[in-house]
Amino acid sequence: MSVSHHLADETLQDYAAGSLSSPMETLVACHLTVCQHCRDRASIADHIGGSLFEEFEAVDVSLSASDLLAQANVMPAHSAPSASPAANPVSGVPRPLARLLNDPLEELDWKRIAPGIKQYNLSDQHRRFGAFKLLHLAPGVVLSAHSHNDRELTYVVKGSYQDEVGRFKAGDIADLDGDVAHQPVVDTDEPCIALIATHSPVRYTGMFGKIMQPFIGI
Ligand SMILES: [Zn+2]
Repeated sequence: MSVSHHLADETLQDYAAGSLSSPMETLVACHLTVCQHCRDRASIADHIGGSLFEEFEAVDVSLSASDLLAQANVMPAHSAPSASPAANPVSGVPRPLARLLNDPLEELDWKRIAPGIKQYNLSDQHRRFGAFKLLHLAPGVVLSAHSHNDRELTYVVKGSYQDEVGRFKAGDIADLDGDVAHQPVVDTDEPCIALIATHSPVRYTGMFGKIMQPFIGI
């Protein structure tokens, strides 16, 4: 997979420091699974070790290292067998995202929100706190022009789109801050599926986007 758009230094620093929200952490981890360049820039070993320890610490802090490894082997089968990436990999989806999905991408319970646009929510929090969702965009779809109040991360799972920043293909990450205004367009004849995380609602610059915002929920 050839990757042309990468994580910003500040995002990698926040990731290493453990200060990203859980949705944004998932997007960063997705990109790191396919991008050697960003893996080289991130000190991920400590981070992964820390995350694993926190996860198992909640189970029993008195467990030995071998106990923890044994737990690691049995826990997925007990907690969510159908969602276990080892048992049921979602084809073409990075593991940090696949572990959140029970079904292949095309079989998810997509909700239609506008012509050519479907979404699959990965969070039930109110949109004023930001979004964490998959968007399924049909060929030729043009999203409403918008900017952001703060960081917006978009990871392209399938297909591609173009906007004022460039062309984004599967594996690329768009790491945008609040200053960037853009209008993504799906630019091939295959659907584009993108994973998106924000901390606050986007700012639509056109009337259509402003009217649709409560329904689109981004
Ligand atoms: Zn990268």
